[in-house]
Amino acid sequence: METLRPRHTGFCFGVRDALALTSGALDGSGEAVALGQVVHNSRALEHLETRGLRQVSNLPTESSVPVVVTAHGATPELFESARNRGLQMVDTTCPLVKRVQRHAQELRELNLPIVVVGHAGHQEVVGVVGWAGAAAGAEVAVVATTEEADDLPYRERRGVVCQSTFPQHEFRRIAERIQLRSGSLEIRDTTCPVVNQRQREATSDLLERVDVVVVVGGRGSANTMALASTCASRRPTHQVESASEVRAEWFQEGQTVGITSGTSTPSWVVDEVEEVCRAL
Ligand code: SF4
Repeated sequence: METLRPRHTGFCFGVRDALALTSGALDGSGEAVALGQVVHNSRALEHLETRGLRQVSNLPTESSVPVVVTAHGATPELFESARNRGLQMVDTTCPLVKRVQRHAQELRELNLPIVVVGHAGHQEVVGVVGWAGAAAGAEVAVVATTEEADDLPYRERRGVVCQSTFPQHEFRRIAERIQLRSGSLEIRDTTCPVVNQRQREATSDLLERVDVVVVVGGRGSANTMALASTCASRRPTHQVESASEVRAEWFQEGQTVGITSGTSTPSWVVDEVEEVCRAL
């Protein structure tokens, strides 16, 4: 099978740097706990686990080993609790997620009701809602669809930020609908340029030249799911986490297979998937 791959696949700089910091903590202590998944890829996670990383859902009350905040970030209240408990924190929050948090904080300082466009419950969104001041009583809503935007109460003034990995075109559509429920709206487009570029590469180039697409990435990865959804709107698309999931029956003889990946997928996993497709 012939394969085609866009220019950018594999880890983004945010995930790469988060892994390097986590790896450094493991080198120093031989053990660490992470608040959630450091990387949405089971093979890369296994590798970290064999080196002493454990995943936990809540901030430990005490810990003798470093506690890792993932690239998705966390609430200011969590950092404060960690300080009070004397925990050794390793903050790997991506700078582009910090940018979302900073904008949320600025809108809060302007006393604006805030809408976070993104998936409620996603770790990044939970953190951003915190930076928007929800715990201190600020009005913060989370919407992920135009229908949810239509259900917002009318407000004279309002601010909007976006989960970094949310598709930019969707964000724009939702922001237009929020505008209809607001007198004046301060829109901060905080979508991640790395994710936007992958979406652009998939739609503007790859999809024109291939018959089938394989998107490599974790099923818990928001940007991988969004990329797969964009590809699926134009071509038959299959999402896999590893090469062992590729099935020969997805392809017909003579077809060209496009291979792309989410930002938390290691390049070597993308290479393995490409190799298997080539060999079919
Ligand atoms: S996808 Fe973007 S926001 Fe998320 S970790 Fe990578 S660079 Fe940062």
